[in-house]
Amino acid sequence: MSTVQPPPYEIDLEKEREEIIARYKGLLRSIRGDRTPEGARMIRKAFNISVEAHKEQRRKSGEPYIYHPIEVARICAAEIGLGATSVTAALLHDTVEDTDLTLEEVREMFGETVAVIVDGLTKISGVQFQTDSMQAENFRKVLLTLSQDVRVILIKLADRLHNMRTLDNMARDKQLKIASETLFLYAPLAHRLGLYNIKNQLEDLSLKYKEPDIYNEIETKLKKGEAVRKRFISRFTLPIKESLDKEGFTYEIKGRPKSIHSIYNKMLKKNVTFEEVYDVFAIRIIIDTKQELEKADCWRVYSFVTDYYQPSPDRLRDWISTPKANGYESLHTTVMSPGGRWVEVQIRSKRM
Ligand code: MN
Repeated sequence: MSTVQPPPYEIDLEKEREEIIARYKGLLRSIRGDRTPEGARMIRKAFNISVEAHKEQRRKSGEPYIYHPIEVARICAAEIGLGATSVTAALLHDTVEDTDLTLEEVREMFGETVAVIVDGLTKISGVQFQTDSMQAENFRKVLLTLSQDVRVILIKLADRLHNMRTLDNMARDKQLKIASETLFLYAPLAHRLGLYNIKNQLEDLSLKYKEPDIYNEIETKLKKGEAVRKRFISRFTLPIKESLDKEGFTYEIKGRPKSIHSIYNKMLKKNVTFEEVYDVFAIRIIIDTKQELEKADCWRVYSFVTDYYQPSPDRLRDWISTPKANGYESLHTTVMSPGGRWVEVQIRSKRM
């Protein structure tokens, strides 16, 4: 996605340099957890090397190419929670493929782990993708075996997410190709790795380019219904909050709006209207508790919920006794609100 052509307007290089530094500082702020001096040094070095390597390149939008690796690294840290090694590899992820920098140089400067990750990312972009689902399944297998280190896939997903967020500047046929590939390949991968938030974003962005009219319609309706949804959820959660407070729980309750893509899918599959799909609300209760108490505490919260609301017996999903194959742990139940509306309640601990 790079070009050596300068943009068709005057560039203020000094201003751009300041903007690059500002974005780099934003990246550093987004890194959570312990920061070691070695980690900080490695990231700083990767930033300098990457700025130098990409300095002649620009994105289709005309922006400096380096904005892309910085943003991919920021997504890795802020939205996936990855650490210094991944941030370093993300900053370097397009250098071996698109610049004069060699894998050997990366290995010498950053060591074997970073080199293996950058190599995996370079190899993935070399694999050609076909749009039928059989091929997609094969390709997913290729991806998973190609990358002994799971961080390769995680950084690849961050890379794809940023490319999807900046798809506006691509030609229409490219947009469609990339959106299809994202939907068939990368969203299922994100799902398999338990990155549900990334998966939803990838699916929504794909739909935005594949079916812009439908996407805009659902988005508008969602915005319109937001106030009603918030009021409903605050009223619904009030007695649950009272019980949690009385029992001394530390918790967080989120009213989770469904993704645009999942609403669209349900409308298609069940042949129903937006209003019928949207009638189903979902909330998530996340408790902060010790690991040895978390299962028992989740069931206690479940009992608070069902003290007030009638659960649907066939809609109980217990993924805390037996987690899903991908490691997902949570307790799901669907209960009836006083207004006759079904509400899905998900209960889990912070660790889960
Ligand atoms: Mn990239």
